[in-house]
Formats: sequence, C-alpha cells, structure tokens
Amino acid sequence: MSEQQDLFTAVANMWKGFRVTFRQMRKPRVTTQYPKEFREKPQRFHGRHVLNRYDDGMEKCIGCELCAGVCPAKCIYVRGADNPIDDPVSPGERYGYVYEINMLRCIFCALCVEACPTEAITMTHLFEMSTTNRQDAIYTKDELLVQPDGTPNHMFDEDHLADFGELAAADGWMRATSPQGRADFSGVPGWTPSAGVGLRPAEQGQSGTEPEGEDA
Ligand code: SF4
Ligand code: SF4
Repeated sequence: MSEQQDLFTAVANMWKGFRVTFRQMRKPRVTTQYPKEFREKPQRFHGRHVLNRYDDGMEKCIGCELCAGVCPAKCIYVRGADNPIDDPVSPGERYGYVYEINMLRCIFCALCVEACPTEAITMTHLFEMSTTNRQDAIYTKDELLVQPDGTPNHMFDEDHLADFGELAAADGWMRATSPQGRADFSGVPGWTPSAGVGLRPAEQGQSGTEPEGEDA
C-alpha cells in the first residue's frame, strides 16, 4: 500500500470516529455534575435504612427481631428490652434496645421492611454510604434512628445534605409489594405517617390503578 493510500485510510478512520463524537454532541446529556447535582431517584429506589418514630417521638421498633429473622444476609442484630414503665421508649411492651445493620453484608432486598409489623425499619433515597473502615459500615441506632422531626442521621457532611431538601427527610421508602400484597391496592396509602415528614405519598407501580371507591 502506498503512503498516499495509508494517509487516506487514516483520515477516513478519523472521520468515522469524529462522526460518533458529533452525533453524541447533539443528544441530550445524561450525566449530572454529582455531587453538586443529585439525580432524582426512582420511587422504589432502595437506599439506606432508617428506624422511624411516631408523631409523638416514640420509637416504632418493638424489638421483635422479625427483621433479623427474615434477613437473607443475616446482617441485622436486634436485642429487645422491656420498656421502662415511667419512661417508655416505644408504645409496646418492649423496644429495640440494640439495633445494628452491617451495611457491608446487606444486599438491599428490603425483606426487613416487608417483615416489620410496625413500619419501624424502612429504606430511604439516601445512598452516600462510603466509609474508610469496616467498623463504620456497621450502623447502630445512633445512625439508624431518625430525629424526632423525621430527619435521618447520617455519616456525612450535614451542610452538604441540607442543600438537597428532598433527601433530607427519611421519606421515599418503598415496600417490594403494595401494602396489602395485592396489585389492586397499589396507590393506596397503607401506613402511618412518620414524625415530621407528614403523610407519605401512596405507592405507585404495580397496576397504576386504585380499588373502586378508594381515594389514593
Ligand atoms: S435489605 Fe435485605 S439484606 Fe439488607 S438488612 Fe434488610 S433484609 Fe437484610
Ligand atoms: S425493626 Fe420492626 S421487625 Fe425489626 S425488631 Fe423492630 S419492630 Fe421488629
């Protein structure tokens, strides 16, 4: 092959490459300037867990250990204790005295959320969980239990989180199924509001319809 043909082939190949670049430049941008910009999460996004409270500030966890029993990764450790008579922590007889989740083992399946009888453990849209050592990846009640106003505790910069209002409250959690386990009931609120964050929006997604006579 002559030098002239080599040059022609090289220019043709470069032009092919630039065509791809120019074609992409005309398409809408799909990337965001994270961490300056947060992309809105899908409604059923499984982010990190929180332990919720009732409106009066009482903890919802009753220390029943159902979440720990159902967890396929065996990453939840719960120890219940009797509520102090004079100063109960939860409305039940018992409360979650110790509650830990090892986030390194969690597969974010949400079975713990499904199993919980009081909607104490839920998942949020929070996803920034990187740590510099393994011990910090074990979340205790210090990290998991929300503030009385429903704001989650977190292990990263609070000023940074404050810039992103939709992530600051512990809402946005999702069961894997509709509350009643039936597609007909998706879109129907089936849980109590958690403190400070108001009535949660209805689940959507399985059928897109509500049962007759029910308000969403
Ligand atoms: S999301 Fe799944 S793996 Fe993670 S703690 Fe809950 S049940 Fe266990
Ligand atoms: S989070 Fe729910 S399932 Fe787990 S111990 Fe507390 S009340 Fe029971």
